[in-house]
Amino acid sequence: MEGKRKILVTTAWPYGNGPIHLGHFTGMVLPADIFARYHRMKGTDVAMVSGTDMHGTPIALKAEEEDVSPEKLSKKYHKIIKKSLEDMEASYDLYTKTTTDNHKKTVQTFFNTIKQNGFIKNKTMEMLYCENDERFLPDRFVEGECPYCGAEDAKGDQCDSCGRTLDPLDLIDPYCSICGETPEIRESDHYFLKLSEFEDKLEDWIEDKSGNWKTNVINFTKQWLDEGLEDRPITRDGI
Ligand SMILES: [Zn+2]
Ligand SMILES: [Zn+2]
Repeated sequence: MEGKRKILVTTAWPYGNGPIHLGHFTGMVLPADIFARYHRMKGTDVAMVSGTDMHGTPIALKAEEEDVSPEKLSKKYHKIIKKSLEDMEASYDLYTKTTTDNHKKTVQTFFNTIKQNGFIKNKTMEMLYCENDERFLPDRFVEGECPYCGAEDAKGDQCDSCGRTLDPLDLIDPYCSICGETPEIRESDHYFLKLSEFEDKLEDWIEDKSGNWKTNVINFTKQWLDEGLEDRPITRDGI
């Protein structure tokens, strides 16, 4: 006899830099919640998990704005987000946060395993640096014009207008999100995930996904693979 089927349902982890609104709920939670409830009704063992991302530049930026520590800020919004999800009766089996011991241990295990398997490398990269604030400006610490669609408020990691993933150095006329000054280019050492080595494997892997993936998701993934996967920095300068 076959063992009982198990399904893991994961949703995006919201940043603890503000409350969630209905748009978050319908985009991030609702489809997954319906999927999880449906499979539970069919008797499948479902674990639906997510949590608040307590780290990252959006939190550092907002903390600066509110003049509190990033830790205090993300704790405040984690409580608010968690309460909203409970009030909306989202059926998470676990809604946690990235500062728990379990989360840290899991991330370290992932990192060490990938590193042992040779898929992490050290590389010097060019970064934008604000002389005025005496700090490097990773992703959202820098804004400017999108090189693809020309939107004027593109962020260093992504353009909200056209959805393209960006590198801060791609931006036209970049400026520091904190003080508005034009940053300069400096070199900095970082760990990179060797994503390029997974290109062929991923191309094979998505081949049989047409049955249960939405067409636009498949096309988006294929387009990404066609453009060629680039190794991705997974560390940030101290913020
Ligand atoms: Zn754009
Ligand atoms: Zn600055």
